[in-house]
Amino acid sequence: MKFERALIAVGLISLSGFVGAADEHAGHGAHWGYEGNVGPDQWTSLKPEFSACAGKNQSPIDVSGTIDAKLKPLRFSYKAGGHEVVNNGHTIQVNIDTGSSVVVDGIQFDLKQFHFHSPSENHISGKSYPLEAHLVHADKDGNLAVVAVVFNEGPANATVAAAWSQMPKAEGKAVLPTKVSAAGLLPKSHDYYRYNGSLTTPPCTEGVRWIVMKKPMTVSKEQLNAFQTNLGFANNRPIQPANARPILK
Ligand SMILES: [Zn+2]
Repeated sequence: MKFERALIAVGLISLSGFVGAADEHAGHGAHWGYEGNVGPDQWTSLKPEFSACAGKNQSPIDVSGTIDAKLKPLRFSYKAGGHEVVNNGHTIQVNIDTGSSVVVDGIQFDLKQFHFHSPSENHISGKSYPLEAHLVHADKDGNLAVVAVVFNEGPANATVAAAWSQMPKAEGKAVLPTKVSAAGLLPKSHDYYRYNGSLTTPPCTEGVRWIVMKKPMTVSKEQLNAFQTNLGFANNRPIQPANARPILK
């Protein structure tokens, strides 16, 4: 009996640590933003917990000067598991049921949520895009892997349409009538760039595996306008210095 209780307690502790680590936009309620005296230039000084924002391995970056490393193919296994859409005051995020994952470095990373930034956070060869999706994954130890997909303006994306069908206007959440799969956010070609970076929002924790898909997807002008109007501000952290990091292709 005592043993069972201990197991449950350990389970709860690790679960709460895990969920916190998987939330790329943790710090809900903390007073940070994208403009003025709570903007990205000020994040480090807002709270001692945000000190990593001044680190040397920060995201986003300009993905350029890449090194040919013959990266191994990614193994995506995504299914329809997006059940709710959240406006957390910083982005629009879709939370995902367990059961979707990607294998990186032989390690399984489970998809926890995806969310969006407009304009894009990462640049590719010096180019900014109107939208970027971040597909946030965590392994069993809470290590993060983020798959980034940039979008140009063009034909509408059906997965984005489904995900944003119930976009809350203010902070809050809504249930999605039909579960969405993140598979519809991925380009047909799974070629990618790779670098080591951080959360792009406070607390800017480093040690995040970044996978940036090479090929852009598209969203329509109407979809882009709906997102930008709903959020009401640009939610991209400016690009950070790559410093000594190799960027692989
Ligand atoms: Zn993000």
